[in-house]
Amino acid sequence: MRGKLVVGNWKMNGGLASNARLLDRLASGWQALSGREISVCVPFPYLGQAQAALSGTPVAWGAQDVSAHAAGAYTGEVAGPMLAEYGCRHVIVGHSERRQFHGETDAAVAAKAAQALKAGLTPVVCVGETLAERESASTAAVVARQFDVVASALRNDLSRVVLAYEPVWAIGTGRTASPEQAQEVHSMLRRALERHDAGGVQVLYGGSVKAANAGALFAMADVDGGLVGGASLDAEEFLAIAHA
Ligand code: PEP
Repeated sequence: MRGKLVVGNWKMNGGLASNARLLDRLASGWQALSGREISVCVPFPYLGQAQAALSGTPVAWGAQDVSAHAAGAYTGEVAGPMLAEYGCRHVIVGHSERRQFHGETDAAVAAKAAQALKAGLTPVVCVGETLAERESASTAAVVARQFDVVASALRNDLSRVVLAYEPVWAIGTGRTASPEQAQEVHSMLRRALERHDAGGVQVLYGGSVKAANAGALFAMADVDGGLVGGASLDAEEFLAIAHA
C-alpha cells in the first residue's frame, strides 16, 4: 500500500528569519497529519537550519538538486554525500526549471538520480511536458522518454525513487491539471513502473497545488501526493495540503 507524501519545494526563496517561522510551524503542526509523510526541499545554505528545526519530528527535509558526480573539480556543485551529512531524506532531480534554465538533459537527470541513491537519498525525479508538447498531443511520448532514460539507468534501483509528474504549463502559473488529466499520466507512469517491477513507487503530482485543489487531485487512484512549490512557503497552506 503506497502512503501519501507531500514534498515542498521552496525554490530560491527564504531567509534565516522567515525560514525559522515556517520550520517552527511545521515542527509543531505535523501532529495533525495522521500518517501523511511530509518533506521540505530547501536551498542548500538552509539545510543545517532545516536539520536543526526538524530533527526529532516526522517532517523530513532535503535539497532541490544534486551533482551528477560524487566529488571533485565541479565548482559550485553539491554532492550527494554532502546532502546526506545534513540528514536529507529527499532531493529533487530534473525539475523543469533545472531542465529549462540549466540545460539538464534526461541523461544528466538519470546520473543525478543515481548519485542520490548511492548517497542513501531518495531522488524525487520530475517529468512533465511543456504546453506546446501538450498541445501537439506529445504528452505521453515526452513523459515516457523522460521516464525511460531514468529507468534504464537505474535498473533495479528504480523502486527506490519517488516520481513527480509536473506539467510545465502548470508550474507557478496558477493553472492546475484537472484531476483526470493528472490521473491519465499517472496511470501511464504506474503501468511503466510495474513493467520494471517498481509498482510501489510513489508518483506525486506537481503544478499549482493548493489546499483548495489538493483533495480532488490526491483522491485519484494513482496520485500519491504532491510536489508543492509556491504554496509550501505558507505553513498553514502547506499543512492543509498535506492534510487533504
Ligand atoms: C514546483 O516548483 O515543483 C511546483 C510545482 O511549483 P508550484 O506549486 O508553485 O506550481
